[in-house]
Amino acid sequence: MRQISRVLIAGAGIGGLSSALALAKQGIKVIVCEQASSLGEVGAGLQISPNAMKVLRKLGLESRLRPFVFVPQHATIRDFKTGDYYLKVPLGEHASSRYSAPYWHLHRADLHRVLAQACLEAGVELLLDATVTHYAKNTELNQVNLFLNDGRTLSADLLIGADGIRSKIREQMLGPERPTFMGQVAWRGVIPVSELRTTIQPDACVWAGPGRHFVSYYLRGGDYVNFVAVEERSDWQSESWREEGDVEELKRAFAGWHPEVSDLLASASSTFLWALNGRRELSTWHEDRVVLLGDACHPMLPFMAQGAAMAIEDAYVLAQCLSRYSIGDALIKYEQVRKPRTTKIQQMSKANAGLYHMHGGAFGKMKLKALQTVSRFVPR
Ligand code: FAD
Repeated sequence: MRQISRVLIAGAGIGGLSSALALAKQGIKVIVCEQASSLGEVGAGLQISPNAMKVLRKLGLESRLRPFVFVPQHATIRDFKTGDYYLKVPLGEHASSRYSAPYWHLHRADLHRVLAQACLEAGVELLLDATVTHYAKNTELNQVNLFLNDGRTLSADLLIGADGIRSKIREQMLGPERPTFMGQVAWRGVIPVSELRTTIQPDACVWAGPGRHFVSYYLRGGDYVNFVAVEERSDWQSESWREEGDVEELKRAFAGWHPEVSDLLASASSTFLWALNGRRELSTWHEDRVVLLGDACHPMLPFMAQGAAMAIEDAYVLAQCLSRYSIGDALIKYEQVRKPRTTKIQQMSKANAGLYHMHGGAFGKMKLKALQTVSRFVPR
């Protein structure tokens, strides 16, 4: 039952663009409003697991992404000092045949560029320098109005708030939120392999240590290494992904770690630092003709590498619901299908923080706990 011909999306991130493409492929007119003045993504890596790859395949992007990927051979958890393996789960060909879709590493900019190009080819209108301020019901036309900070007003049958962790759309729908600082900060960086003093294993590797963990993996066919380093700390509160951190401080924090980590960090010349916040499940994801998607409604700690994957899944499920039901019913169904899954993954991500930061005697218990986690490492 199609009741929808025109959709507005706030935010051209991975969730917003996936949603735009899924809807445009159904013949719906989609306009995406993005606050940035040019399309681009932060320089960082993403692990794209088979569940998200199945959606990207349905959207026709698998072959377009293939030239930019790195295929990890294992997902591992290793001891920060000795390098002993607590866990080594095969990925590569094994993951492809087990899950019927590959497990890939991608540079965010590559995924974003391929998505944006496919959107333009499908007729999606992308408005840049288009900061969304608020929305209102348009009772006369039975639509929703969206207001931009330059004075423009747009209307459509549906507004999708895919405007990320500090979503304006969520704030208007549900009021200001109160994130809880998790007492952890994360550093990230990308290093060209030509600058490395060492080689690392071709795996998605978590190095677990007391009060800290370190994630490393290759990108773009092995030309770059992505790292994320998480430290328990209370003196940094900024949640922006674009604030520079002190690379010497990062090196000091991980001094004495296994040479794969310390040699890798020795080649880092810059880093970004942000604070990790926890958030509660929202009471609802929609009202009238407005609905939330991705980090706007279920931001998660990065310890399951599933935030973008969940936004991509949301996009596909929402488009499917809108193709089958009236708008009201579609939004209810979408939340019913998605919320239990995203809430579970939010909770698992939080639990992994404890698992990765072993203290003293926890080393012995780690193996069993890690194995339990890994049985759910790649959600189907
Ligand atoms: P965003 O990507 O934040 O996009 C929101 C967009 O909305 C932005 O373009 C923004 O400019 C725009 N916007 C915001 N406000 C406005 C406004 N008022 N008007 C107009 N536009 C606006 N996920 C994985 O699946 N795998 C991983 O390996 C992984 N690794 C990660 C590593 C790190 C270090 C981090 C921090 C996250 C990681 N994630 C990973 C999570 C993932 O990056 C996010 O969950 C995902 O990007 C969310 O997508 P989104 O489209 O919902 O939001």
